[in-house]
Amino acid sequence: MTHQIAVIPGDGIGQEVTPAAVDVLNALDVEFEFVEGEAGDAVKEETGEALPQETRDLAAESDATLFGAAGETAADVILPLREVVGSFANVRPAVSYPGLDAVQPDTDLVFVRENTEGVYSGIESEIADGVTTLTRVITEEASRDIAEFGFDYAEENGYDDVTIAHKANVMRTTDGEFLDAAEAVAEERGADYDTALMDALAMHLIMHPEDYGVIICPNLAGDVLSDLAAGLVGGLGLLPSANVGPDNALFEPVHGSAPDIAGEGVANPSAMILSAAMLLDHLGYDDEGDRVRDAVEAVLDEGPRTPDLGGDASTEDVTQAVLDRL
Ligand code: ATP
Ligand code: MG
Repeated sequence: MTHQIAVIPGDGIGQEVTPAAVDVLNALDVEFEFVEGEAGDAVKEETGEALPQETRDLAAESDATLFGAAGETAADVILPLREVVGSFANVRPAVSYPGLDAVQPDTDLVFVRENTEGVYSGIESEIADGVTTLTRVITEEASRDIAEFGFDYAEENGYDDVTIAHKANVMRTTDGEFLDAAEAVAEERGADYDTALMDALAMHLIMHPEDYGVIICPNLAGDVLSDLAAGLVGGLGLLPSANVGPDNALFEPVHGSAPDIAGEGVANPSAMILSAAMLLDHLGYDDEGDRVRDAVEAVLDEGPRTPDLGGDASTEDVTQAVLDRL
């Protein structure tokens, strides 16, 4: 069976790291057909649209999408793309690797972030000159869905600790709903869990990440806490993510287009290659996903390394080393 994969490199280092992931997928014994689509600043400049209809259609009809990054137009690209694939769950693992000098070497966390509502619902207005508002939407349905997903993920991937992050002591109605719904799911399943106030959690994650496994969070908290965890394990160049819906999914590195290093050929391709490994898991190729993760881990351990990890290798050198391992 051939799987059609939409490949959307986008802007900046997205153009450099996306081909690395495609090369890795091509090196495996799985039939893929890659179809490339345009999105981001460059195509907006040309056509006036950051996410052309053609690209939306491509993502909708493909079995999965690999997305690199978009620059200024990031919100105009990734938010609608997540909608096109119907994704309600953003999965962001943050794992420290033995050979790397991480701030916290015993980190093995997975953020399961609600991906459709919260303060990212985009309902903002300027109600008077210099006075702005934002409506935060939290529904029981979306909160239950993300909790179910998080507990399933923990079970399937062998995580014992599940934490529900919230700030229900202040946002009593909205985060109260999130917390109630998520706890109800846990009770129904008879699952063990903890709850944590997201601000205190930020501190505990820095000091004792080893106490946590899967962390189920509302949208904004998941975004911020997962970047924090990126810092614990060695930087944005290492963190993959998945946006998962009932019938489709999109895989992208947590990092953006990194304009400061774009065009130099030194971006770390690990986050993007690890995103491709998540794509493999999603399509049911768990062994191949593990092989790719093992190859990346070996290269992170022994080098070559890109400058963000203290080395002087190029994106291509690292990609080639991963391919050699495979
Ligand atoms: P965007 O506006 O597209 O989100 P940004 O300025 O927020 O871009 P990020 O791409 O999120 O930038 O990167 C933040 C920092 O991390 C930058 O200094 C960037 O160079 C570095 N960085 C991000 N990804 C990588 C990578 N894959 N390899 C090396 N460095 C990276
Ligand atoms: Mg950014």
